Amino acid sequence: MKIVHDTTVITPSGDTVRTLRGHSLVFDDTRVVKLGPAEEFQRRIEGGEFAEVIAGRQHVVIPGLVNTHHHLYQSLTRCLPSAQNERLFNWLGKLYEYWRHLDYEAVNIAAKVSIAELLLSGCTTTSDHFYMVPRGSDVKMEAVLDAAEELGIRIHLCRGSMTLGESRGGLPPDDCVEDDVDVLADCRRVLDRYHDASDYARRRIDLAPCSPFNCTRELLRDTVVMARERKSVLLHTHLAETLDEERFCLERYGCRPVRLLADLDFLGSDVYLAHCVHLNDEEIELLAKTRTGVSHNPSSNLRLGSGIAPIRKLLDAGVRVGLGVDGSSSNDGGNLLGEARQALLAARALQTVEGGKANDNAALFPVSDAFKLATVGGASCLSRPVLGHLNPGAAADFTMFRTDDIALAGGFAQDPLAALVLCAPPRADCVYVAGRLVVHAGRIVALDESELSERMNEIVSARFRSV
Ligand SMILES: [Zn+2]
Repeated sequence: MKIVHDTTVITPSGDTVRTLRGHSLVFDDTRVVKLGPAEEFQRRIEGGEFAEVIAGRQHVVIPGLVNTHHHLYQSLTRCLPSAQNERLFNWLGKLYEYWRHLDYEAVNIAAKVSIAELLLSGCTTTSDHFYMVPRGSDVKMEAVLDAAEELGIRIHLCRGSMTLGESRGGLPPDDCVEDDVDVLADCRRVLDRYHDASDYARRRIDLAPCSPFNCTRELLRDTVVMARERKSVLLHTHLAETLDEERFCLERYGCRPVRLLADLDFLGSDVYLAHCVHLNDEEIELLAKTRTGVSHNPSSNLRLGSGIAPIRKLLDAGVRVGLGVDGSSSNDGGNLLGEARQALLAARALQTVEGGKANDNAALFPVSDAFKLATVGGASCLSRPVLGHLNPGAAADFTMFRTDDIALAGGFAQDPLAALVLCAPPRADCVYVAGRLVVHAGRIVALDESELSERMNEIVSARFRSV
């Protein structure tokens, strides 16, 4: 067992978030064993009971953050000039031209870049929605799984898919989509090989058709059946992200996106949906009633001009809401702590836009709710009760920020939780996943960041940049 001694711990607990100064955290290579006042452990430390004593006085410790939506490969096309000022459908149109050149190495390097960014922001678990398998390429799910294993992040790899090409009324070019039968066969393969249903699993596979406008209805249906046969397998997809998508569904299927999924039995406690920006009150009720989770991606929604998801209403209705940074082509920085801040700002803006004068004196979206989105909210979306907090029994996933980081100066003395959410997000100093140190002194342990960045820039310059 190891101990982080005499530190400040911030953890969700029940409905609140507790800030515990002068506390110590005991953990092994799986879970948190004990959390209590530092003085309780002094004698045991002197008795040499712990394999390692980590001095925590200059740190604030939080649970590893949980990211519920990403496309790790998209760091290849972040800041792409032709897609900087476009809304979703045009943005996708510009990007497919580049993504059709993906290969195993490009995906693997890009995934490492995106994972490194997440870890350095304090995130220890990520979902990755990987749906882009160009025809004839050597791209496979292992490109992402290998990157996660190398850097040490906990992952839910969503075996994504697109099967409705342009010639059949979908959005992507035909050479960017797969056949339904090939997708289902590969879903089966990766589930058999990699899915770990155990409580503290470091790797799970979720099934994730990309969206209503690039998947056949049959694929959506068959994917639901496959996931439910396996019991512990979650379903994920993009939904109600833009008004364009709403129009597409009304024209092609004669109903709004949520109704389309409801009719396919694609709602439930084993489902989490990315975005959910454009929902009416009935749809919010339906998500609550079916226990469907929502992954909120405010930066991406703002970057693409899609809108602001009604998070206050969703939370008040009892919907499980987590946070996502989304792919780096629509949120060019994958910083989950920064995303909690963005969620708070977006929710407050929406309060004013919707409430107007009537809401002048209503309390604003609170700091603790933003923190919960990035921790227990995400864990709930991923059906992982051991993640997102640091109470005994939690997974040994946590992040240590230095309290003398200039970004927190003054703020830490006022309120450590508010400092982390409201100040500019500091860089993580140490990050542990399953009790293993994966970030040390602000650097990724498993690789050289400069070398990785150089290789990434070479690949982007050679194949993913407009000339
Ligand atoms: Zn997405």
